[in-house]
Amino acid sequence: MMRVGVFATIHGDEPEGVLALGRFLEQLAAQPELGEGFGLFLYPVCNPSGFEDNTRHSRSGKDLNREFWTDTVEPEVQVLESEIQEQAFDGIITLHSDDTSDGLYGFVRGAVLSEHLLQPALLQAGRFLPRNHRETIDGFEARHGIIRSGYPGMLQARPNLRHPPFEITLETPQKAPLHRQVDALVAALTTILTEYRYLQAVGQNI
Ligand SMILES: [Zn+2]
Repeated sequence: MMRVGVFATIHGDEPEGVLALGRFLEQLAAQPELGEGFGLFLYPVCNPSGFEDNTRHSRSGKDLNREFWTDTVEPEVQVLESEIQEQAFDGIITLHSDDTSDGLYGFVRGAVLSEHLLQPALLQAGRFLPRNHRETIDGFEARHGIIRSGYPGMLQARPNLRHPPFEITLETPQKAPLHRQVDALVAALTTILTEYRYLQAVGQNI
C-alpha cells in the first residue's frame, strides 16, 4: 500500500485546502478507483486556532509552517511531527493558497520524482486556473511554477532521510474564485495519485 498524507490549512486563513479535501473525499466516494492501492491520511485543519481566528499564525503567534523539526514547543506541530514519523509516508502533500500570487505554483522536495508528479498536477489544475510563470516566486527561483527549495521548518518529512517521500506543496492564487481553487486542488491531488501509481508500477517492472 502506498501511504500518502495530505495536510491542509497549516496557515489558518487558507480555508481553500479544507474545502478541497472535502471535495476530494466526495470524488473518491464517487470514483473509488482513484484511491486504489493507496492508504490516504487526510489532515484537513492543521492549525485549528488560526482557522477559528482566520489568521495565518496559530493563537500562540507562530507561523507553524516554519516550526517543523526545530524542537518546537508548538503542540500542533508536535502532533503532526509524530504522525509524520509514525506513518512513514511515501508521499506528503500540503495545500496552501497565496494572496500574493496570480497563478498556481508549487514546491517540490524530498524524492526526485516529486517534480515528475507536480508537473502533470499543475497541467491538470491549469484547466481551472492559470499558472504563475514568474522566474521568482516568494523570493525563490521558480521554473514554470515549480520551486525546488523552500522555507526551513516547512511541514515535511524529517530532513536528511535516506529514502525521503515525495513532497509537494501546492499553492493556489487566493484571490481567484474559490470554486476554481477547489477544483484546481482536487485535479492536482487526483493527478498526483494517478501518476504516482503509474510510476510505481513502471518502476516495479524494471
Ligand atoms: Zn500558506
